[in-house]
Amino acid sequence: MPKDKEYKGKRTDLRCPLCSSPMVLQDAKFGPFYRCGAYPRCLEKVGADKDSGAPLGMPVKKTTQEIRTQAQEMFDLFWKYHDSRADRECAKNTAILWLVAAAGFPEFDGSVRRLDVNACRQVIALCGKRLQKERKLAKKK
Ligand SMILES: [Zn+2]
Repeated sequence: MPKDKEYKGKRTDLRCPLCSSPMVLQDAKFGPFYRCGAYPRCLEKVGADKDSGAPLGMPVKKTTQEIRTQAQEMFDLFWKYHDSRADRECAKNTAILWLVAAAGFPEFDGSVRRLDVNACRQVIALCGKRLQKERKLAKKK
């Protein structure tokens, strides 16, 4: 890629479709793309035109499996960070109850395998938001 087409780390006006953070234009082997400015809390990506760097409009398509994996990782990261009690089963159950109340999925039991894509995106957004908040508070201490 020629020098004038290096986009690395360029902040843009484009908002993340998942969490509305400003997106950052990045170069990659397969061409430029936008990644969410809240990375690694949010892993959303949007494709960009190879020549102009213009957003291609649609998020880079992820399979249901990829989104489920991301949602499961985010949930696990969240409850492990949020609750350091020695009783891990109890810590996890507390987080499940919180998520069930916050998102309203009665079928959630700590595993996202039965959740659909939208529900998974909700898990990522809710857990990510709370995780970020708690990390900020921890830093202030
Ligand atoms: Zn995002």
